[in-house]
Amino acid sequence: MIKKIIVYTVVSFFLLYGLTFAQEYKWYKGNTHTHTTNSDGDELPRRVVRWYLDHNYNFLVISDHDYLTDTKYLDTDENDDFILILGEEITDRAEGKPVHLNGIGINRFVEKQGGKTILETLQNNIYAINKAGGIAQINHPNWKYSFNHEILSSVKDCHLMEIYNISKDCNNFTAGGFPGMEEIWDKVLSKGNLIYGVISDDTHNYIGEFSSEKANPGRGWIMVRAKTLTQEEIISSMKKGDFYATIGIILKDLKISEKEYSLEIVPYLDAKYTTLFIGKNGKILSEEYGTTPKYLIKGNEGYIRARVFSSTGDFAITQPLFLSK
Ligand SMILES: [Zn+2]
Ligand SMILES: [Zn+2]
Repeated sequence: MIKKIIVYTVVSFFLLYGLTFAQEYKWYKGNTHTHTTNSDGDELPRRVVRWYLDHNYNFLVISDHDYLTDTKYLDTDENDDFILILGEEITDRAEGKPVHLNGIGINRFVEKQGGKTILETLQNNIYAINKAGGIAQINHPNWKYSFNHEILSSVKDCHLMEIYNISKDCNNFTAGGFPGMEEIWDKVLSKGNLIYGVISDDTHNYIGEFSSEKANPGRGWIMVRAKTLTQEEIISSMKKGDFYATIGIILKDLKISEKEYSLEIVPYLDAKYTTLFIGKNGKILSEEYGTTPKYLIKGNEGYIRARVFSSTGDFAITQPLFLSK
């Protein structure tokens, strides 16, 4: 009988969340926003691929501005631990502001769709990306303060949004009376619009000295949990939020059930860690120290997500679990 109950719990856990156990799954490192000389990046596609391959990434989305970079001849070894996913940065404009979105895993070039307003332009492009078999990522919402939380709360069928874009002009953080991306994200989530948070390089600069002024590779990425390293599996995990975003903190495990939200952080030397469990309206539900933070779910939090930061200055964000009332 006990065995039966355990089996039932496991099955219902699979059905409810689609997230499963660490031993069957692996974490794959990837960047979802990358430029090459096919747009305004300063390095050739094959050398860009080489950089990410040499730095232990498992997947890369090349997203040139309004250009579908052909990846067929770029991934030279089918048997290594590295894949390329077709992508494009749709580079649209509305109401005098840039409207940039990545189509990830698209099966063809997607023409920018235009629109009368920022919201309409975003929505038209999201639908076009989805129609081309991909998933949409809204890029750098705070670049030139293009999209406020009201616009982002109203978009439909969008899976991803950049919460931190490594380029210095993206205004990722709250300052001067303007909300940063996590604050905006919490407002969007609190309105019930489930969009998952991404950190990306938005790489443009591979040549010359690397500095914080430049959009260099390797500074922010996502870790996706999947059974195997295929485009289908990676995109399917991204679609259901089975990934976290980081600029350096690595998780050994991330367990999300209806009872508990827990993390296991891989320690770096003697670094200290704080994890904030965050709920509806950005409310801090709990602040935990150490490498195994956990939060016991009450059920009335609206949603739960976690933000980990360390004494090194690194941070990571995990995806929200929406709770039904
Ligand atoms: Zn852009
Ligand atoms: Zn870009």
